[in-house]
Amino acid sequence: MSPGVPLAGAVRLAELPPLSLYVHVPWCLRKCPYCDFNSHEKRGELPEAGYVDALAADLEAALPSVWGRRVRTIFIGGGTPSLFAPEAIDRLLIAIRTRLPVDPEAEITLEANPGTFEAERFRGYRAAGVNRLSVGVQSFSDERLAAIGRVHGADEARRALAHALETFPTVNADLMYALPGQSLAEALADVREAIAIGAPHVSAYHLTLEPDTHFHRFPPALPDEDAAADMQAAIEETLGAAGLEHYETSAFARPGHRARHNVNYWTFGDYVGIGAGAHGKISFRDRIVRESRVRKPATYMRAAMEGNAIDESHEVAPADRPFEFMLNALRLVEGFPVALFAERTGLPVTVVERELAAAEAAGLLARDHLRIRPTARGQRFLNDLLEPFLPGAPRPAQVRPIRISPRDTPSRP
Ligand code: SF4
Repeated sequence: MSPGVPLAGAVRLAELPPLSLYVHVPWCLRKCPYCDFNSHEKRGELPEAGYVDALAADLEAALPSVWGRRVRTIFIGGGTPSLFAPEAIDRLLIAIRTRLPVDPEAEITLEANPGTFEAERFRGYRAAGVNRLSVGVQSFSDERLAAIGRVHGADEARRALAHALETFPTVNADLMYALPGQSLAEALADVREAIAIGAPHVSAYHLTLEPDTHFHRFPPALPDEDAAADMQAAIEETLGAAGLEHYETSAFARPGHRARHNVNYWTFGDYVGIGAGAHGKISFRDRIVRESRVRKPATYMRAAMEGNAIDESHEVAPADRPFEFMLNALRLVEGFPVALFAERTGLPVTVVERELAAAEAAGLLARDHLRIRPTARGQRFLNDLLEPFLPGAPRPAQVRPIRISPRDTPSRP
């Protein structure tokens, strides 16, 4: 990075970013072999009531750090939050609203996995106040779903998506591509089916082998890099032609259906993260803090009830902020307004002038006096674009282009 980044304490934010709330529910029916999220196989009855009590206590303890701020979006993710009964989600949302001012227009998302009895369950979530459902479809092929160890089948995925569309004002369909044994035609068939059923938002993730997963230890045969890149390009084209705009590395939406919660992450907004292993980022005028909660559900619940669920907390040093900002904002196809960099990091954009100029010269980035955005090449080689912004990275002239997967950063905390 260019010299001249001020030290901590010397940087002040002119205003605080929008605030979101992330709630983690850490249980699933079965652990998927590719999954590196903090999710645990359900054994016996879930402690729904106790967990909601713990979440309420966790939020209560977090209040002083966000005093007086209004929550714009809530995302109940996991894990599989749809394992919780609508009554538990209702209690949770009441507990949140009684503790924090929630915008009347707030986007409230719940993640759901296909299963049985959705129609009634989904109506219950809607009545509790959920207004966006994110359905973990992954594929509409029984064979591919079995190959990635999912417990649901293609018909269940179709039914869940259809019920979700009948019940919620907006819906996301999560899809994955570059699955074991998958052809380009099969990947496109999944996307076409999501379009035909009517999903106004699609997230299409490249399956990657993450450390500490079963697939990392026992890798399945996957489509090679070129085949995966062809799938990505064809998926983008198909969704675009159907009117779903590509607005982030993995996200596509019809007008008015972008995921506001995720857009807040990508524009380096703030979020309180409650629940086992949840991450949060909170800005103050004079500092930016990242924190994470205790990961193990039972330990988390005890710690939260004692008012101390935070496992780790650290300040984001001014020198680290440009990379953290770019890591998020350059995932957006439209990039970001130049002024947003200073608003969110407290630093003038001139601290990254050398890196911006080098990325522009390499054809990875385009900019004018209003916006900075990744080019098509920058979107495809996102790690090459981001690498020079790392604190202590080699000077831009020394960085050589290398090809990497586009799914290199998490789309949620
Ligand atoms: S359902 Fe989702 S969160 Fe749960 S194990 Fe599978 S991939 Fe992970």
